[in-house]
Order: sequence, then structure tokens, then C-alpha cells
Amino acid sequence: MNKVAHYLQEHLSGEVTTSPEVRRHFSQDASVLRLPPLVVVYPRNENDVRKVTRFAWQLAERGKILPITARGGGSDTSGAALGSGILLVFTAHMDRILSLNAKTEIVSIEPGIRYDKLEQALYTHGLFLPPYPASHKYATLGGGIANNAIGEKSVKYGRTSDYVEQLRVVLSNGEVIETHRLSHRELNRKMGLATFEGEVYRAMDGLLEENHELIENTAKKIKSTYNSSGYNLFDIKVKGGFDLTSLMVGSQGTLGIITEATLEVVPHNPLTHVALASFDTLPGFEAALKKILELKPSVCEMVNGTAISRVSELNPQQLAGLVDNPTAAMHLIVEFDDRRDGAQKKLIKKLKKIVDKAGGSCRSASEVEQQEKIWMVRESISTLMGHPTGPAKIVPIAEDVSVPLSALTKFLDKAGEIYRSQRLNAAVWGHAGEGVIRMQPMLDLSQIGDRQKLFRISEDIYSLVGELGGSLSAGHGDGRMRTPYLDKMYSRDFCELIAKVKKIFDPHGILNPGVKTGSSKEDIKKLLRGDYNLGHRHEHLPRS
Ligand SMILES: Cc1cc2nc3c(=O)[nH]c(=O)nc-3n(C[C@H](O)[C@H](O)[C@H](O)COP(=O)(O)OP(=O)(O)OC[C@H]3O[C@@H](n4cnc5c(N)ncnc54)[C@H](O)[C@@H]3O)c2cc1C
Repeated sequence: MNKVAHYLQEHLSGEVTTSPEVRRHFSQDASVLRLPPLVVVYPRNENDVRKVTRFAWQLAERGKILPITARGGGSDTSGAALGSGILLVFTAHMDRILSLNAKTEIVSIEPGIRYDKLEQALYTHGLFLPPYPASHKYATLGGGIANNAIGEKSVKYGRTSDYVEQLRVVLSNGEVIETHRLSHRELNRKMGLATFEGEVYRAMDGLLEENHELIENTAKKIKSTYNSSGYNLFDIKVKGGFDLTSLMVGSQGTLGIITEATLEVVPHNPLTHVALASFDTLPGFEAALKKILELKPSVCEMVNGTAISRVSELNPQQLAGLVDNPTAAMHLIVEFDDRRDGAQKKLIKKLKKIVDKAGGSCRSASEVEQQEKIWMVRESISTLMGHPTGPAKIVPIAEDVSVPLSALTKFLDKAGEIYRSQRLNAAVWGHAGEGVIRMQPMLDLSQIGDRQKLFRISEDIYSLVGELGGSLSAGHGDGRMRTPYLDKMYSRDFCELIAKVKKIFDPHGILNPGVKTGSSKEDIKKLLRGDYNLGHRHEHLPRS
């Protein structure tokens, strides 16, 4: 064990390890990068987190930077759950529901709790937290909040930040703050504090004031529905209040470490109607999509023809009999969850009319068994991810972009050209209703040629997204993979503002450095792993 680990072991109540096996495990997340931590810590409580940050802060004051990275389920695709210093793994101990009030529909949790576990508890009260990611079986709420996750239900219910009421956050010097909406008077009180918290509030208030025009103009420029790129400086000053919660959400552990979150939850209706709509052409899909969204579906997911044919090549039986029109250009899975069954039936009728008019075909299901068959079309994407035919794997590159709905088909056309220029086909899926596109190329990252393609695709796709007023990341975060490309969507001035916010919260650069600001394409090259796969994504907890 190294000196750092010895010191931490003596002072923390959670476990500390430098075991090579554990460090190897945590050197990967779901991105294409590898970065082993120096020490892995499983904090038992907030006090452990405070001690770790205070320790790193004191070291930094003496000139030694020891990065701290928070880690949930490690399903981050942007390389943000990796760090070269201390990795704080929250899934071991800090994974409890602290309170659940079914009447007020408010739940308080620790960050390491998995979505699945929280869902089970909420379902028993007829409630749910809508913006759960597709990775909900292994992802944690801490990671979801830090990435501002979105999911299949976001088309109707919004993103994570819409549900976060309050956070407890350990700042880079070990102080704890509670973020929630402050009145003008409360803000003044905070700004009067002689603590680091006071410094943060004073500096942030000044920064927002000085740069309000830049912030407003940037907000106008980004036209996509969801955006978790950079820092959310757009919602801090709302309705005469001041709230750092929206800034913390989506900040990927670079401004503070979340130790507790209070979330709003909503009634859940498990009795839904689901439909599969298939369109022969993209213009037909585009014409129908706008009208389908007017029906306020609770899910509107897309999977393109290339994805379906590739799944069928890999596993000819998997979708047999499930897709009526296997040669269609685009398939949509649409769900309605209105409280009344009659209302759902009416919406399905309207949906069928819209699809028919657009020259498509549509099949609906109200029974769970039949619905599951429709859902299998969307879920078949995991076959693409999990069963590569050779050394090439489907890799998460430029895979979470979002564009304004009006530009969705234009984006799909142009992105298809970008892929073809690299002799690749574009399997596409994603949240059609929000213009969120998941597109992942099949590459063998042990080959230099394919590594070059990775950078060409990132460059071209992100440039296209910027031109269309979209976002590099709808809900997966910038991490190490997207940070060097932020200037494709934000102006130089706004990128500088992002760096200034980071400096206010983390003057020594301890918290997840290289994420959101301060990293380059060269840094990505150094960390790329040639043997990318998702096989390591199993639980790893201390054995004591
Ligand atoms: C197959 C697959 C499907 C996915 N589907 C979706 C999807 O539908 N929608 C979506 O939005 N995302 C999706 N993701 C991305 C990812 O799963 C989500 O962003 C998820 O919410 C991350 O949670 P996690 O617990 O795995 O976080 P991690 O990967 O462990 O961490 C993510 C980020 O959160 C930070 N963090 C973790 N805990 C804390 C804390 N306590 N305090 C501060 N920062 C913290 C980390 O430092 C890191 O920056 C998918 C990923 C995969 C591999």
C-alpha cells in the first residue's frame, strides 16, 4: 500500500485498497478509455468524503495534486468515471433510501443507490422517477444526477434536473453545502459567509452578472431539447431566485461530490398501450413524427433499418416475426400512459391514422406479452453491442448527440454520409421525440486506421451538431471524450466561462480534472484502450 492509502485507511471508516485487481477493474468505465486510479475508497458516510477532499485540498496547498473522482455504476460512456488519483466508489455503502414520503411524492437518497433498487421501492407506492436511463439496472442515481440523465420517458416527463429538488454536496475543500432555491435575502446571507461556501456564492453571483448577455445568447443558440454539455449556467437565476442545484446536476463530479439528493417523484401508470410504427422513407418518418408528438406519447423511441438488418445478420431468429416491415427505413416504438384506458385507445387510433397517412405501417398492443415483443425491437440493440463478429466492436463515439427536431432527418442524412465516407454503416437508435441520436460505429481500436476513424467521426459529427444548433451530449455528459470538442457547440468565450466556473468551485483542480475543461484530443489518444468491450461491467465491492 502506498502512503496515501495508509493515511486514508487510518482516518476513514470505509475501506481503502490499492489491490492491483481492484485498480484494474476501476481503470475502465463504459467508454473507450483506460485510466487506473492510485487508490480506491469505499466511503461509508459523508464524513469519509469530507476527509478525503480535505486531505486532497491540503496536499494541493502544498503543491501536490491528487485528483478525486466519484464513481457510481461506472456506466459512463464519456470517460468521466475514471481518475488517476482517489476513486470514491459509492455503490458499496452509500446506497440507501433515506426517506420516502408517498404523500408529498418526495424521496431522499444516497448517491450510490441503483436506479433499479429505487424503482422497486417507488413502484410499491405507485410512483416512479421518470428520467431513468437505459442502463438503469447498473447505473446509480449519483451518476444519473451528475450526468443529468435522460431516458425513454423523457419525451413526456423531462430530464433528471427537472426532478432534483435539493442536493448535499461536499466542496473541494471538504465543506458541505446544501443547494436549493434561495430567495434574494437568503442569497445575500450566503454571500456574507466567511467560508468557502460564501466565496463560491459571491464569485458565482458576480460571474453570472458580468456574463449575463453571453449566457442568454448561448442559451438562444442551443436549440436542442436536451443539453448536458458544459455547465448549466442557464437556470441558476430563475424567477427571482438563485439555485446552484441545476449547476451541480450534469457537472460530472467536477464541482463537488454529491452525498445526498432529494428528488420529486410522480405517479406511475403501468397499464399502457404500446405501438410499433414502421416507415419506408425518412421523409415519411419526419412527416409523421411531428404529429405523433402532438399526441404526447410517454415513449417515442427510434431504431433505423440498418440497426435491424445488422441484428438480423448476427442473430437471424431474434426479430423473426416481430418486425412487420424489416426493410423499413425507420421504426418507432410509441407508448401512451394516460390515466384512462379509453384515452389511450383513442390516441392509438389517432397514431394509426397518422402513420397510415405517412405511408407507414403500425401495430399496437395492450397486453404485456405482446408489448414485450414490440419492446424487443428496441432492446435488440444490445445484440449489436454485446455480440461482435470479430475484433471490431460497436464503440461509444459521438453517441449521445441531440439536434433540434426540425433538423433530425437532415442530421441523419448528413451523419450517414459521414459514416459512409469512412466506409461504415450507421446503425441508429435513440429518443426520436427529443432529437437524441445514439449512433455507434463498429471499430477495432487495436488498429491505427480505426483509431483515426474514431477521431474523424467525432470531428465531423460534432461539427455537424454545432452547425445545426444541437448539443454534443443530451444526457451522457462531456467527460474526457467530448470536452476537447466543446468549442464545436459553444463559443470560445463560453468555453472560457466554463473554465472560470470550475476555478471558482475547485481552485486547485482536484475534482475529476480533465472532465468538462482542460483536456485535449492528445489526452484521449493517450488513454484509448485497444481492447474495448463492456464485459467488465459487473459489480465490484469490498470483500470485508
Ligand atoms: C448500455 C448503456 C446505456 C445507456 N443508456 C443511457 C440512457 O438511456 N440515458 C442516459 O442518460 N445515459 C445512458 N447511459 C450512460 C450512463 O449509464 C448514465 O449517464 C448513468 O446515469 C451513469 O450512472 P453511473 O452510476 O454508471 O455513473 P458513473 O459512470 O459511475 O459516473 C458518471 C459520472 O457521474 C459522476 N458521479 C458519480 N457519482 C457521483 C457523486 N456522488 N457525486 C458527484 N459525481 C458523481 C462520475 O464522476 C462521472 O462523472 C448508458 C450507458 C450504457 C453503457
